[in-house]
Amino acid sequence: MRRGIALVLSAPSGAGKTTLIRRLRAEFPDFGYSVSCTTRAPREGEVDGRDYTFLSRDEFGRRRARGAFAEWAEVHGNLYGTPLAPVQEMLANGRDALFDIDVQGAAQLRLNLDAATFIFILPPSMAELERRLRLRGQDDDAAIERRLANARRELREAAWYDALVVNDDLDTAYDRLRAAYVAATLAPARNAHLVDGLLATS
Ligand code: 5GP
Repeated sequence: MRRGIALVLSAPSGAGKTTLIRRLRAEFPDFGYSVSCTTRAPREGEVDGRDYTFLSRDEFGRRRARGAFAEWAEVHGNLYGTPLAPVQEMLANGRDALFDIDVQGAAQLRLNLDAATFIFILPPSMAELERRLRLRGQDDDAAIERRLANARRELREAAWYDALVVNDDLDTAYDRLRAAYVAATLAPARNAHLVDGLLATS
């Protein structure tokens, strides 16, 4: 059976990753989505268990100590982690899984998962990133400064990703993200059963 692909998406906040992920999941509804755990407070409209599993710092620490996370990281002062068991199950069942995680976590997944494709979503410019963060109205000035400083740190890691997608025009960015995903599904390492099947009948 074909093994599922882990599609890992990282981007500085404000780059438009959430919108792109929504589109990808709408077009490919079979995608398994890894719901992360976080210690940050829910934002308006966020649903526990759908957007994140919201945990206290104590509970997060307990789960981390028993090895429940495939990776974890501290981002903007909050802890985030990817639960390991659902990921292993999805990939083993041949289901592709989508991950929305920061670069520190992506680097850990690169070590912990054998079949993963890493895509970095870039903003068209730092000025546009700042404009989008302000427009979103979720953060005060200090938080926006923190996010911009963090964005610069994250951008330095973009070089080891498999694909870079600039999110200037949303449709173009989506086409490129889609192309990177489809290309990843065609890799021989993930499709050995196709050749094996042909050889078995010859
Ligand atoms: P936000 O709080 O805005 O939803 O997310 C902040 C950052 O945390 C984003 O860069 C997002 O990709 C990252 N993040 C979300 N879930 C996880 C996770 O499970 N692991 C890691 N390492 N980062 C995550």
